[in-house]
Parts: sequence; structure tokens; C-alpha cells
Amino acid sequence: MVQYVYEFSEGDRNMAGLLGGKGANLAEMTRMGLPVPPGFTVTTEACRAFLTTGAEPTGLALEVSDHLTTLEQAAGRRLGQRDEPLLLSVRSGARFSMPGMMETILDIGLNDDSVLGLAKSSGNERFAWDSYRRLVQMFGSTVMGVDSARFENAMARLKEARGAADDLQLDATDLSRLVEAYKELIRQETGEDFPQAPAEQLRRAILAVFESWNGERARLYRRREHIPDDLGTAVNLQRMVFGNLGSDSGSGVAFTRDPATGRRGLYGDYLPNAQGEDVVAGIRNTVALTDLEHLDPRSYAQLCGHLRTLENHYRDLCDIEFTIERGTLWMLQTRVGKRTAEAAFAIAAELVDEDLITPDEGLARVSGDGLARLMFPRFDTSAVGDALAHGIPASPGAAVGAVVFDSAEAVRRASTGEKVVLVRQETTPDDLPGMVAAQAVLTSRGGKTSHAAVVARGMGKVCVCGAEEITVDTQKRRFRVGDTIVEEGTVISVDGSEGTVYSGAAPLVDSAVMRYFETGERSAGLVDAVVGAMQQADGVRRLGVRANADNPEDAARARRFGAEGIGLCRTEHMFLGDRRQLVEAMILARADAERERALDALLPLQRRDFVGILAAMDGLPVTVRLLDPPLHEFLPDRTELAVRIAAAEAHGKAPSTHDAELLDAVNRMHEENPMLGLRGVRLGLVAPGLIAMQVRAIAEAVVERKRAGGDPRAEIMVPLIDTVEELRLVREEIERVLAEVSKVTGVLVDCPVGTMIELPRAALTAGRIAQEAQFFSFGTNDLTQTTWGFSRDDVEAAFFSAYLDKGIFKVSPFETIDREGVGRLVEIAVAEGRAARPGLKIGVCGEHGGDPDSVHFFHSAGLDYVSCSPFRVPVARLEAGRAAL
Ligand code: PEP
Ligand code: MG
Repeated sequence: MVQYVYEFSEGDRNMAGLLGGKGANLAEMTRMGLPVPPGFTVTTEACRAFLTTGAEPTGLALEVSDHLTTLEQAAGRRLGQRDEPLLLSVRSGARFSMPGMMETILDIGLNDDSVLGLAKSSGNERFAWDSYRRLVQMFGSTVMGVDSARFENAMARLKEARGAADDLQLDATDLSRLVEAYKELIRQETGEDFPQAPAEQLRRAILAVFESWNGERARLYRRREHIPDDLGTAVNLQRMVFGNLGSDSGSGVAFTRDPATGRRGLYGDYLPNAQGEDVVAGIRNTVALTDLEHLDPRSYAQLCGHLRTLENHYRDLCDIEFTIERGTLWMLQTRVGKRTAEAAFAIAAELVDEDLITPDEGLARVSGDGLARLMFPRFDTSAVGDALAHGIPASPGAAVGAVVFDSAEAVRRASTGEKVVLVRQETTPDDLPGMVAAQAVLTSRGGKTSHAAVVARGMGKVCVCGAEEITVDTQKRRFRVGDTIVEEGTVISVDGSEGTVYSGAAPLVDSAVMRYFETGERSAGLVDAVVGAMQQADGVRRLGVRANADNPEDAARARRFGAEGIGLCRTEHMFLGDRRQLVEAMILARADAERERALDALLPLQRRDFVGILAAMDGLPVTVRLLDPPLHEFLPDRTELAVRIAAAEAHGKAPSTHDAELLDAVNRMHEENPMLGLRGVRLGLVAPGLIAMQVRAIAEAVVERKRAGGDPRAEIMVPLIDTVEELRLVREEIERVLAEVSKVTGVLVDCPVGTMIELPRAALTAGRIAQEAQFFSFGTNDLTQTTWGFSRDDVEAAFFSAYLDKGIFKVSPFETIDREGVGRLVEIAVAEGRAARPGLKIGVCGEHGGDPDSVHFFHSAGLDYVSCSPFRVPVARLEAGRAAL
């Protein structure tokens, strides 16, 4: 018999897969003896069973009712009993935190009778009716599907009729009338009455939480955060405690450290006389947690103690939600808190310093994505004018964009490529699409723990919240700061590190971390934390990290960033610009002599390129790839040329012979699928002299560098091999030229010759290819293109968003390696290549070389190195270290 329900005392923090993160941590806190309101958790397994079959899993109802009985006995009260009702909260809690994305229903157990009992037992009639009002509203919208705006409108009408500015001015009679209005609304909308039986409320609330796993918001969030769709959510049922029972009650959120910077100390927000939901929604402005010390010194001291206990126990930043009910402190939730990239590095470094965690654990807690964020530019504060407004720096970074006032507009503008800043009074989970689309989020209300702040931090999106000087007028689509009015579409700059907002587009400068990589300057504590993590990563990683670079400047930068060589020097970039004409001449040449002239002219130019790159990477390997362009890229556009000729003819002139010859050649070489056409090694094999010229340029550059006292380590790589025969032919030619240059110059040039593995056939015949190849480098861009049959230039724009929406894949296979398909080919090629040539050196130089998840795959596939763009080199180093843990 499957167990679907666990008492808090039965679980622990390692059971997040089954109990969800919230449930597992409630269990852990219960075990630690912290004051957690009693309760139990319905497992994710029950949710999965429900979502698969559409029916309540057999046995679940009975288990829930047994656990409820235990809870009732301990409390000495029954759920919804008339005189002094026990009430329950029903909260979602998936394995990975999805703040505000799923449903919560509070005050289960209230009905027309028990509300009177609650009024009596609490001695607070208004509170009882307000709780009932909340239940009918939450239940009505979440469980019964009534649009929540209908309830809000009814509330607004009542407030208007009573001349009340906010909810607190509505008294018990008003609220009881509102409950009647809500119930009537439900009746009209659904043809059904609000259920009075507590057991029915409970059962339907649980199922509604299950269903909210598949709600639109939750699905979008999961896609954004790459959370699998099939995990399901757990449901936590817990005795209600009330923070809205008067001035000796309240709710808050606390962190053991500042989640934005990692600085030590207690951070958080507190809202007197309020429920937890009011804090997170940012509906009323909170006070700083430290104010609680004056409001309720005893609870404050207890809270500080619990926070210390939690941080030492979890050995990490924890965040918690708590409620004080008439002077008694209750811990409602804890988790290892989300943090910014800056905080992640700072906290890891500090905990390592304090010996609370090992350096390896410190490395595991930072990420390449976080490092990439720290390398982004910042605003140049010396060049910006006065700030337009100030708020709370909730999620760091610098963002510039046009102001928009709702999610739909953000999405609409962003889809046309415009950069936008979403400005709201406060955000709700419904704003998620707009937050995803925006560069930054700016709110006028709410603290560091408001929805906007938590979600933005999780996404690594810039956020300033609680900018109280701003008055947002969503209807008129503008905001006001003092006398300044900012209309929709106006460009502003948001500094999430400082909490400032500027008019216009503020100028950007390098971040401190970027300056460190460029110059070695250590200007901030954060830089020391990054350096510590990099050293640890470099110490443990097995994978080498090289860069893709094709000019001396990029090569030099890559080296400063820690590259251990060049894994891909694409030579086609060296054939563009002025040199294009020479390439054109080479292609068009009818006679050998003509072609040789063109190649001779290209030779010294290529040699110069290689000398510069080999000098920048002196002593380190430089893998030069022979030319791999789709040929059409070097010839003029067919239509343009035809139009030019037609225009000349229309004016009675004869077209130039050059144009006519060009058109003839272009027509001859036109390909319907150039990416599958005369590229890579194929071009080298049919264009006489091309390979020889490139190899000669490389060899002569090596000689020049050696004569200058350098240590050039060129490697020659052949692109787009399908069969070993191609490689055999090309290798013969390469070796002939190398021998010739060695002989003529008297300097031995001995470059390893290897190949790219970027076509499925090459991967599948890697054992044979390895007989001719001294090294392999996976070209995962082409390998992905040809394995999936996806044109790398077209499909992302054409239909990938639909594929992502449908969940066919979670992330573009061009971004993160598809382990199952492309990855399998990689594994086959590694195994067969090394079987044929033990110790074969193998790297990867497709875009995946700089993608964190892919780096982990390449580590486990046994590659020797990854190669990526210079700016990604630190990210790849860090992730290669993490992969080795
Ligand atoms: C590749 O295909 O992965 C590769 C590195 O080559 P290119 O991107 O130049 O085709
Ligand atoms: Mg390629």
C-alpha cells in the first residue's frame, strides 16, 4: 500500500522529492524542535497519480482523515467545529520552489456556523468575518473557478459605498455582508453553493492544489527555470495560526543574510497585524525586521536564535516565513534561500572561511551562469545625472529599457525586439510573462521579499522594488515622481545593485569582476570571492578550457581570461573584407596560373594572421581549422547581380565582362542547401591549391615564430569530414606542404593533423577516422544541425518557441547539448576513436563548449577540453571544476 500522507514528524529535509521542498523543511524544523504549527504533507506521488488518472488516488481520503483526526486530538478541537473551530491552511510545495506560482487556500473549516464560534473564541468579530471572507474568495476563485476580479470588484463597490479607503475600515457587519455577496456570486457563476462541510472544503482544496501544478503560470515558470513538468506538487496541511489578531500579532519574512549581497546579519520585513500573504504580495508597506525588536522584544530574540540555529544546521543562507500570534512565534516555512549571483559567491567564500563548508562545497554553491551575470557591465555612476527615484536594490545588474505598465505590453514590445522595463505598483504571479520579457522590474511597493523581488532574483533579472516616490498610474499608462511624469515608452535605466532609477539610457562600464579578468585588479571583496572559487575550480577540474578565437586581440583576451590555448581558429573570417576580391578571383579563375596568383596574394595575409595569433598564444596549442564557408557567402548575391546586368542592358549598355562572368559562376555554384553543400573539406578537395596555401601560411608562421624565439604550437584541423577517405587525401597534402616548408626553411614544422567530428556519419565511423586523425574536436553546432535535421540558421526563429511551449524540449538543443541524441553520438565517437587510437585527444568547439550544463556532459563523456568564446572562458573553467566534484 503506497503511503500518500506523512506527518511532519515523519519526514526530513532529504525527502524533498516526495514531500516537496516546503514539506521536507517543515519536517526538518519539526525534528529540530522549532515551533512549527502541527500538520502533515500529502506527497507529490499522490499529485502525480491524480494528474495521470484525473481521479483522487485510492486511499488518499482515508489517510488524510486519519491524520486529521490525530491533529484534532492533539489540538483538542475539530476542523470547523461550531464553538472553537480548528482551521487549516492548504499550501502547495513542489520539490523546487516556485514562488507564488501555485495555489494556497487558508482558513479551511470556516462556514456559516463556525465563523460565529471563531468570533467568540478569538474575541474578535471583525477578524472572524475577515477570515471567512478570505476563505470564500480564495476557495471561490481557486477551487470553483470564479474570476478573482469579480470578488475584488464586489469588495471595491462595498468600500465605495461605505466611503472606506482600505479594507481595515470595513467592520464585521460589512464583512459579513460581503461574505453573503461572495456566496451569491459563486452561486450565480457556478450554479453551486459554497460548500459548508469542512471535510468537503478540505478535499476539494487538496485537489485544486494538485491541479494548480498545471496552471498556466506554473507551466511558464517551470519552462523558464527548466523545472521538469512531471514532478507534481506536494500539499501541506497545517493548523492555521493568525498574524492578524491585533497589534501583538503579525507576519514576516527573514533571511539569515542579505540575499542581494550576501552580507551577514538578519534581513527581512515584518508587517504587524497581517497574514503572511499580505507580506509577500507587497500590498502594504512592511517595516524592517529590526523594528520587531521594539515591537516585540521576546519574539524578536527567539527569532534571532532560530535563525542562527537554522543557518548552522543547513550551513547556508536560509529564508523563513514566520507569524506571531498574540505574542507566540511560529515558524511557517524555511528553505535554503534564493540569492543573487553576487550573494552566492560572497556567502560561499565566507562559509568556507568559517570552515562551515569545504572549498569543494563552496564551489558547488556557485554557478557559471552566476559568474556570467557578474561579468555584465554596470552603470557608470560618475557619468549619470541625478537619480529619478530610489528604491530597494532587490536584484542587481544594470538594465535600460522603455517603460511599460502591464505584462501584455511588455510581452508585445519585447517580441519586436524592444527592451522594456516593467513598472508596477506591485507584481503578482500573473505578471510573470511580462517579467520574463522585461529587462528589469520596478515596483513602487513591497520589500526585498515581495513577489517582484523574489521572482526577479530567481531569474537573475534586474529589480528595484518599493520605490515609494513613484506613483504608478496604470490606467493613464504613466508614472509620476514629484513633478516629473514618465509616459509609457520612455526609456529609463534601472540599477538593481544600488536601487536607483535614472531617466534615459545611462552609460555602462565594466563590472569589478570583468576588470579583474581583464587586468587582474582586485577592487572589491566580491572579486576575492570569485577568485577563490576560480582557484578551487582550476584545482579540481580535469577538463581543459580553450577559446574560439580568430584574431590576436581575441586570443590575448582569452589568455587573460585563463584559456589554455585555442580550440578553434575559424579561418573563413580572415577571408572577408578587402580579401574578398582575392577569394572571388580564386573561385573564378579559369587557368591555373590565374588561380595561383590569387592564392599567392592571399598567402602573406593569412601568414600574418597566424603569426599574431601564435604569438598571443605562445607555448599553448592553437587549433587552426581549414576554410569552411558555404561558398555562396563569398560570392555576390545572385539577384543583385542579375538586376545590375538587367539594368545595364535596359540602358542599352553591355554588362561588364566581370559581372557576366560572376553571374555565370554564381549560377554554376548556386546551391539550394548551402549548409549541406560545397563546404569544409569538400571545398578543399575541389578547389586546387586552397589547402596548400592555408597550410603553407600556417607552416611559415610557425617558422617565423620559432625564428623569433617563440614556442608556436599550431594544430591543423579539417572540417566537415564524412569519411576517412576525405581525411586521408587531405592529410597527405598537408603533410606534403609541411615537409616542403620544413625543407626549404630548415626549420622542422610538425603540426598534429586532426579533424572535426560534426556529422553523424563521422561520429558513427569515428574508429576508422581516428586512424588518420591525431585529434578530434566535436563541432556540435553542425552535429546538432545534422542530427536533428534542424537548419541552425532558421529554426530557432521559425518554430522553436512553439516546440518549447509544447514541451518537446525544455531548451534549444543549439544552446544545451541534447544528451540523448547528439550526446550519444559524442559518446560513441569518443569510445570508438580512443579504441582505435589510445589517448586520442578530444575536445569540443561548438557553442556548447561554453554552456554550463553541456560542460558537465563533456566532462562525463571523457573529453579532454572544451573550447568557447573568450568571454565564456571563466564560466567554462568554473563549470569544469564543478563537474569534477
Ligand atoms: C560547429 O559546427 O560546431 C563548429 C564549431 O563549426 P562552425 O560553427 O564554424 O560550423
Ligand atoms: Mg561546423
